[in-house]
Amino acid sequence: MLNPEDIQSLNQIGQALWANSEQSRKATIDAVSAVSLLSLTPTQALERASAALVERATRDGTRANASALHLPFFRLSSQERFLLVALHLERWSYARTAAVLEVAPAKVETMAWKLRTLLDAQVLKGSAGRGGATGNPPKTASCPSFDALTPWTQKFLDEEYGAKERVFLQNHLMACDSCRDSLSRCRALYFRVEAILPRADSSQNDSLIQVYTQLRHNLNPHERPLKAALAIFLRRTEVQLVLAGALTLLAVKIFQLG
Ligand SMILES: [Zn+2]
Repeated sequence: MLNPEDIQSLNQIGQALWANSEQSRKATIDAVSAVSLLSLTPTQALERASAALVERATRDGTRANASALHLPFFRLSSQERFLLVALHLERWSYARTAAVLEVAPAKVETMAWKLRTLLDAQVLKGSAGRGGATGNPPKTASCPSFDALTPWTQKFLDEEYGAKERVFLQNHLMACDSCRDSLSRCRALYFRVEAILPRADSSQNDSLIQVYTQLRHNLNPHERPLKAALAIFLRRTEVQLVLAGALTLLAVKIFQLG
């Protein structure tokens, strides 16, 4: 079962996979319909529907987005577009994003950095020429080491550190100009990338939620609110006959006892 906010997420993911909003809507309705048939937790349903969308977009290939290929974002693979939207706009963890893509969480981290720097260099001509997002080498013994493929600054901004590491980094940042500079350059790159991601047409949310609610309603009439279900039950002729029969029996019994 999906929550309304999960359907909004799927709408967002769909619109990152298909530049054409009608195509995106159709694919999203299909994915939502498919998971509505299964008995899944909201988390499972959302991940399953997301994976179905990514798979379908991969099958559709670049032809489906021919009109948008002038935008570097739409030249990325469907997996790559999903990854960026999941991390930036849905604030999904590496683990959750990895589950949909069926890769290890560490792979999401390396892919994310590769894609962010690539997009920034291609579209925004930002960091590439100026060494912008590249972090500074450790300056003191307590500086975190800067891995060029998976920098700590990205992991920090993606909120992937546990509480203990986060507190350590926050304290270190207050004292270290060099690491603060690394983080601020990474944050700038982060927001440059975020600014070019396609945003969902939110007017589609309500109609998608309606479609899903109707589907669930048709498939599982017992999911109706109890009062409505009871009213329908009592309206059925056979139920009325059984009730009438039971009342008659009761009346006969009472009569006999009397
Ligand atoms: Zn430092």
